Amino acid sequence: MLRSMKAERTIVHRFEASLFPVNAYLVETSTSVVVVDATLGVSDGKTLRSRVDTLKRPLAAVIVTHAHPDHYGGVAALLGDADVPVYAVAGVNDVIRRDDAAKEQILRPMFGDEWPATRRFPSHTVQDGELVSIADAVFAVTDLGPSESPHDSLWRLDSDGAPQVFVGDLVYSHMHAFLADGFYDRWLVNLERTTREVPADAMLFMGHGQPVSGQAILHWQASYIRRFLDVLRTAVERDGLQGDPLKDAVSTQMKRFLPKDDLLFLMQLSVEPMCIRLGLHQRSQSAAASSAKGER
Ligand SMILES: [Zn+2]
Repeated sequence: MLRSMKAERTIVHRFEASLFPVNAYLVETSTSVVVVDATLGVSDGKTLRSRVDTLKRPLAAVIVTHAHPDHYGGVAALLGDADVPVYAVAGVNDVIRRDDAAKEQILRPMFGDEWPATRRFPSHTVQDGELVSIADAVFAVTDLGPSESPHDSLWRLDSDGAPQVFVGDLVYSHMHAFLADGFYDRWLVNLERTTREVPADAMLFMGHGQPVSGQAILHWQASYIRRFLDVLRTAVERDGLQGDPLKDAVSTQMKRFLPKDDLLFLMQLSVEPMCIRLGLHQRSQSAAASSAKGER
């Protein structure tokens, strides 16, 4: 799937993977193409490469917004043997390299050969506030640190029209979200920071779903995170649920907030890790023990 988002000096094309809905973006400048994120799998990475080739401009660079494998896994198939720089903030580069072996253990059984045998990592690291010139485009970098993933960043392109901001997974475009990395508090702070810093007319290009203009989506994402925390605490602490009944109850409640199934599995994968992160099971077990001993 390839759609033009803007017909000015730079044109941003959205490429949605077929394995599951995750985006890569092709930023077409007057001289070249810059790809922002590269999806997860080998097939999608190759298809992304063929989309780049149809633009008949050289691929100048790849940017990786954050540390999750559904955004960097496809870089290897996109680039093949080509010597093309891969940019990320230093923290994103560090986390990708640190966690890649663990991701291999998780993703190989899930995706088989679609998860590339060898992954390609960032080759050029940049810092917060840096202006990165790639061919004739200049990206302003914001290093967010932990948010949705252990390390996130924003890449902003100012051209003739509204600013274009590649937000990675800081915001999902009205899809269920992955919260399993547990940095929900930093994520909420970074959503507030981004609301202050990003112009009201900015076009936000998300890792999942359709790009959206304006700041309302940032508030929506914060509401989604807060609702998830409330729902999870209630289901464990008040209702005493765990295991599959807990996952089912949380899913039912979150689908009242967002009545669709898009990426529901990512939210469901987050239930157990977030119980651990919030210490919910221990608390509900000690509460049960206390009430059993008549201490309540
Ligand atoms: Zn993602």
